[in-house]
Amino acid sequence: MPNILDGKKLAQEIELILHQTIESGLKVAKRPPGLAVLRVGNDPASGVYVNYKEKACDRIGVRSFAKHLKEEILLEELIEIIKNLNQDKNVDGILLQLPLPSHLNEASLLRNIDPDKDADGLHPLNLGRLVKGEKGPRSCTPAGVMALLKRNQIDIEGKRAVVVGRSILVGKPMALMLEAANATVTVAHSRTKDLPSLTREADLLVVAAGKPHLIGKNHVSENSIVIDVGIHRLPPDTKINLQESNKNKLCGDVKIFEIEDKVAAYSPVPGGVGPMTVTMLLANTVDRWQKHCGLPLTISHLLP
Ligand code: NAD
Repeated sequence: MPNILDGKKLAQEIELILHQTIESGLKVAKRPPGLAVLRVGNDPASGVYVNYKEKACDRIGVRSFAKHLKEEILLEELIEIIKNLNQDKNVDGILLQLPLPSHLNEASLLRNIDPDKDADGLHPLNLGRLVKGEKGPRSCTPAGVMALLKRNQIDIEGKRAVVVGRSILVGKPMALMLEAANATVTVAHSRTKDLPSLTREADLLVVAAGKPHLIGKNHVSENSIVIDVGIHRLPPDTKINLQESNKNKLCGDVKIFEIEDKVAAYSPVPGGVGPMTVTMLLANTVDRWQKHCGLPLTISHLLP
C-alpha cells in the first residue's frame, strides 16, 4: 500500500504550533500578526481560496486585512493600496491573489510589495534569494510540498526529481527548492517532448501543469513518489472513479486511481498540497511578525 501524504493532518499540526506561537508572543509584540490578501475581480476559484485563507487566519489568531477590489481597478490605484499596506505597522504579510484581470501588470504589482512583507515570496528580490540559497520568504505552495516531504521523512538528497510546470508561482520555485535540497532536478513544460518517458525517470515527481488527469500509470515508475499540485473541479456529470468522500468532485493533474498501486507515496487531491499552501502562508506571516516585533524566530524550522 502506498503512503498517502496527508497534507490536511500536517496543516492542522502546524496551525496548532502557529497558534501557540502567537499566544506566547502577544504580550511582548502587543499586537497579533496581520495578513492582507488582495483579491481583484470575481474569479470564482480565487474567491474560494481567499475564503479559506481568511478562515485560517481566524483559527490561529492572525488579523486579516483582506480586500476585495473591483475588476476595473487601475494599476496606479492598486499600487497605492499596496504602498499603504507596506507602511501599515499592523500588517506583516501581503499576498496578491493570482490570476489578476488582464489589464493589470502582475510583475509591476509584485515589485511594489515590500520584500519584507512578501507573504508568497514572489518579489524579484525574494526569488533572487531563493536562486542564491539565501534566507527569505518562500512561495507557499512549493514550501508546503517541502514541508510535506520532510514530515513524511522522504529523503530528497540524491533523488532524481522531475517537476512538471515552470510557472513562477509553483514550478520554478519548486525546482529550486528541490535542487537546494540536493535533488537532481529536471523541469518539464508544455513544449516538452515525450513527457511520459521523462517523468518515468523520476524518483520524485511533482506535477503542477494545471491539466486535469494529465499524468497516468504510463508516466510513473514503480515505487516513485508523486506530488499532485493541480486542483480542478470536474463537471457534476463526470463518470470517473473518484473516492466517495470527494463530494465536490475535485481532482488533480494526476489520475490517482491509476497510479496508487504502483507508487510508494502520493499526495491526494483534495487533502494534499492545498491545505499545506494555506498553512505555509500563515507560517510566513507569523515568521514576519516575529521579525517585525523583535521576537525570537522560533518557527524557521517549519520553512524551507
Ligand atoms: P500555470 O498555468 O501558470 O502553469 C502551468 C505550467 O504547466 C506551465 O509552465 C506549462 O508550461 C506547464 N504545462 C501545461 N501543460 C503541460 C503539459 N501538457 N505537459 C507539460 N507541462 C505542461 O499554473 P500554476 O499556477 O503553476 O498552477 C498549476 C496547477 O496547480 C493548477 O492546477 C493550479 O490550480 C494548481 N495550484 C494549486 C495550488 C494548491 O494550493 N494546491 C496552488 C497553486 C496552484
